[in-house]
Amino acid sequence: MSVRVLSVVSEAVPLVKTGGLADVAGALPGAVAPHGVAMTTLIPGYPAVLASTGKVRAVHAWDSLLGAPARLLATKPGEHPLLVLDAPGLFDRPGSPYGDALGKDWADNWRRYAALGRAAADLVGGAVKSRQFDLLHAHDWQAAMAPAYQRFAPLAKARAVPSVMTIHNMAFQGHFGREIFNQLGLPRIAFAIDGVEYHKGVGFLKAGMVSASAITTVSPTYAAEIRDPEFGMGLEGLVEGRGDRVFGIVNGIDTAEWNPATDPALAANYTARTLAKRGANKRALEAEFGLIESARGDGGPLFIVVGRLTWQKGMDVLLEVLDHLVGMGGSLALLGSGDAAMEEAFRAAAARHPGRVGVRIGYDEALSHRMQGGGDAILVPSRFEPCGLTQLYGLAYGCVPVVARTGGLADTVIDANIAAMAMGAGTGIQFDGIHYRGLANAITRTVELYRQPQAWRAIQRAGMKSDFSWSQSGKAYADLYARLLAEAA
Ligand code: ADP
Repeated sequence: MSVRVLSVVSEAVPLVKTGGLADVAGALPGAVAPHGVAMTTLIPGYPAVLASTGKVRAVHAWDSLLGAPARLLATKPGEHPLLVLDAPGLFDRPGSPYGDALGKDWADNWRRYAALGRAAADLVGGAVKSRQFDLLHAHDWQAAMAPAYQRFAPLAKARAVPSVMTIHNMAFQGHFGREIFNQLGLPRIAFAIDGVEYHKGVGFLKAGMVSASAITTVSPTYAAEIRDPEFGMGLEGLVEGRGDRVFGIVNGIDTAEWNPATDPALAANYTARTLAKRGANKRALEAEFGLIESARGDGGPLFIVVGRLTWQKGMDVLLEVLDHLVGMGGSLALLGSGDAAMEEAFRAAAARHPGRVGVRIGYDEALSHRMQGGGDAILVPSRFEPCGLTQLYGLAYGCVPVVARTGGLADTVIDANIAAMAMGAGTGIQFDGIHYRGLANAITRTVELYRQPQAWRAIQRAGMKSDFSWSQSGKAYADLYARLLAEAA
C-alpha cells in the first residue's frame, strides 16, 4: 500500500508561483509517486488557485480557523489530488500570495499561514474521514506551523504522525510579535525555547524546525552551510542541535516542462546533437531585447539572468561588473523583478549600453524559456542559494551556468577546469567570492571558453546529459518518509 503524504505549501505550479518553491511543490507528487508515495497537496485558496482548480467538492468546514470561517475543497486538477483551503477572509485578495500589488506583506500573514498550518494538523489528526495521511511534509515558514500544531495537539493520533520540515530558503523565517501568541490557539507551554518562541516573539520556521521529525533543505551543501551563522541566519544553533535529523536533498526539474526538444516557447527545438539550431533562438532573443546581433564566430557570448533582483542573488555585484562584461565582448539579456532601486539601476545600465544590455522588468514564464533556449550562458552570482533552479534549466538547455560556489549551485554544476575538461565532465563555471573581482574573473573565463567552440560545445553537451531530473531526489524523499514511518511504528 502507498504511503499517504500531505504536502503543505503556500504556492505550487501550475496554480500559483512566485519562485522556486512553487516549482518544487508542483513537481514533488510526481517525483515520489514511482516510489510508492501517494502525495496530496494542501494549498491556500487564493483567487488564482480557485479559478484554476476545476470541479471541487467541499469535504470539511471550520466555523472558525484562527477566527475565519473556512472550507476544505477537494479536487484533482492533474494526476495528483489537491486540497484547497478556502477561507475568503484570509486568502481572497488581489496581489501576490504574500502581499499587495506594491509588494507590501499583508499585516495578517501570521494569521493566514497559521490557519494553513492548523488546517494541516487537523487533517493529519484525522479530522476528515475520507482523507487520511501517514506523514506530513511542510514547506518553508508559511507551512511551518503545521508540525507545531501537530506537536501540541490534544489528540495523540495527531501527535503520532511523523513530519518533515523542508527549508527552501533560510532567509525567510516568519517572525512575528509576542502579541500574536495568544491568538494562535496553542497551549501556554508552547511559548518556550523548544516551542514557537523566538527572541521573545513567535518564529514560524523555528517552530516547525523544533517540532518536525526531520528537517530537510534543498541541497547537501546548503544543509552544511546553515550550521554557520552566515547562512543559518539565527537558526544555526538549532540546525546544529538537530544535526542528525538534518538532510540535504537537491531539487530536480520538471523535464516535461523544461525540454528543449519539445518546448513550444522556442523558435527552434534542439537536442544535444543538434546544438547548431540554438542559433535561431539566440537571434530571436537578441531581437526581442533590442541587442545588436553578435558576430558569428569570434563574438562574445550572450549572457542571461532570470530571477529576483535582490542582494541574495548578487545583483548589486552584477551591476558593478557590467562594464567589464560588455568590454569583453559579451552582451546581457536580463529578466527579473525585485528591489525597486536595483530595477532602476538595471534600466539605467541598459540605457548606458544600448544594443549590448537589454533589461525586462517583470515576470514572464514563456520569456524565461526563450532565454534559456537562446542565451549562451546564465549568470547566477548568488551570495547564498539553497538549491537554485535557473542553473538547472540552463544545464538542460545548453545555456552554460556561471555560478557562485555556494549551496545547490556548488552541488549541481561541475566547474570546467582543466581536469574536468580532460574527462569531458565540466558543465559550467564556478567562482568564489561575490565581489567585483570574483565575478569579473568568472566572466573573463566564460568568454575565453566561449571563444573555443569545441570546448564550449563539450560543456554544453555535458550539461545537457547530466541528471537534473527528479528521479534520484524523488527516491531520497520516499526513503526518508519510509525511515520516519519505521521509527514511528
Ligand atoms: P528563488 O526561489 O530563490 O527565487 P530559484 O532559482 O530556486 O530562485 O527559482 C526561481 C524560479 O522562478 C525559476 O523557475 C525561475 O525561472 C523563475 N523566475 C524567477 N524570476 C522570474 C521572472 N522574472 N520571470 C519568469 N520566471 C522567473
